[in-house]
Amino acid sequence: MSASGDAIIRGGTRLRVRVSGAVQGVGFRPYIYGLATRYRLAGFVANDPDGVIIEVEGDLTCEFVAALPLESPPLARIDHISVQEIDALAAKDFSIRASEHGRGSTRIVADAATCQQCLDELFDPNSRHYLYPFINCSHCGPRYTIAERLPYDRRNTAMGEFAMCAACAGEYADPASRRFHAEAIACPTCGPRLSHGINDIAAGIDGGQIVAIKGVGGYQLLCDARNHDAVQRLRRRKQRDQKPFAVMVGSVEQVSEIAEANAAELPLLESVARPIVLLPSRNNLAPAIAPGLSRVGVMLPAAPLHHLIFHALRSTGAWHGAEGPVIVSTSANPGGEPLPIDNAEALRRLAGIADLIVTHDRDIQTRADDSVVAVVAGRR
Ligand SMILES: [Zn+2]
Ligand SMILES: [Zn+2]
Repeated sequence: MSASGDAIIRGGTRLRVRVSGAVQGVGFRPYIYGLATRYRLAGFVANDPDGVIIEVEGDLTCEFVAALPLESPPLARIDHISVQEIDALAAKDFSIRASEHGRGSTRIVADAATCQQCLDELFDPNSRHYLYPFINCSHCGPRYTIAERLPYDRRNTAMGEFAMCAACAGEYADPASRRFHAEAIACPTCGPRLSHGINDIAAGIDGGQIVAIKGVGGYQLLCDARNHDAVQRLRRRKQRDQKPFAVMVGSVEQVSEIAEANAAELPLLESVARPIVLLPSRNNLAPAIAPGLSRVGVMLPAAPLHHLIFHALRSTGAWHGAEGPVIVSTSANPGGEPLPIDNAEALRRLAGIADLIVTHDRDIQTRADDSVVAVVAGRR
């Protein structure tokens, strides 16, 4: 991060501030709105093709610029801030303006794992997002995989076709909400829907099925990591002879049940990109997961759907006991070829691999595919 522009800025003037980096789709405009309000500044903030453009005027513009990089939202990455003094307009209020269009250099941040506040709502029976697989906010959820073009505004994403309900529109417009201008905002009333109930998905995994889920960025194949038959079947159908599978556990506390992790590795597992971390295995999962290897690739749930599946698995009889559920999770690329996303060909090819195919009606980057469900006959 660097700053440039006028070395000495007088208070009571109007400044044009340009911020470049990963600043779209991360709650940056609401953050700036809050900051400008705190310093009692007038002006506006908008996304533009190069990042975010801000104009502020008032007595505390210098303080505003100094504070700007210090409390920026968790997913934002600021590369550069430039400041230019311009003529004051005697503006009275501060607003979030519609985006300016055009080609530019700003980048959209990667999808981010469900944040703790959204998780709390996900399992709160009083929340309107209770058990909703597409819950997200300015600090978490899909970004890159739903964006069709820049700037990152709802109408330029796969969410554009979902009209917000009154409650979502209220949160979207409320500067005090963490969903203020959260472009992927959705709820059970107005947002995408899953093709299957969570209990059916959990029952499939529990019963030894291979389940394909349409995740945030593509299809994933899941099965019970303690069920040797299921893992071997997955390996056979995926034509993946010896390459190890990674596994997902429900929480960071559960990692030690299957692997040894040190103090450096646990925060890595919890980072928003949800990487697969190779850890020394306790060798208590199906041997076909990583034949002949002493390490196992472990990851934590990335999306609300994963959390819901673990929640449902823990509630079923088979998982009561000391050991929690562990799920093999691998991308659905038969024989290593990339799987076409969101079309009939993808479903046809998945049908040869998965016993249950769970999809939803939100696009992954491209146009919607109306087909929703395919339960492959005879494989239950
Ligand atoms: Zn969130
Ligand atoms: Zn809604």
